[in-house]
Amino acid sequence: MYPISKKISIGKKALLEKDIFTNDEISPSAIVNFICGDCNHQNTVEIIPYQSGYPIIQMYHNDQVLSKNELLKNGLATETSTGMQHFGEITVNNLPTLYFGTACSTCHSKYIGVFSYGEKQPGLTILNISGIWKYQELK
Ligand SMILES: [Zn+2]
Repeated sequence: MYPISKKISIGKKALLEKDIFTNDEISPSAIVNFICGDCNHQNTVEIIPYQSGYPIIQMYHNDQVLSKNELLKNGLATETSTGMQHFGEITVNNLPTLYFGTACSTCHSKYIGVFSYGEKQPGLTILNISGIWKYQELK
């Protein structure tokens, strides 16, 4: 996993084996499998709560990587419900939202993943991945 700092364009969404993980499935980490759309290789990403990922605001602040509109339009995140705005203006499932960059281990195509993590209600901790998309850096 790595942070993204340059402007990018979003491409096709990769096939995810599973996008919602709860309680025990996240302890000590969630293992996320996705299929590279270019070479069909199955890649694995390990998401460790409170360690993995970078705050999504770092992407849309000053439109540095993607604008808020681009994030919404491509379905990476949605507008946060009133009353949950302390988690940010745009989130996944109204929980603290993070992103990461990763590359296919076989063909090195670049991917961006977006997920949220937190306690949805007492006793229910959810890790929700909105998706993993191919991306390209803009020149
Ligand atoms: Zn690939």
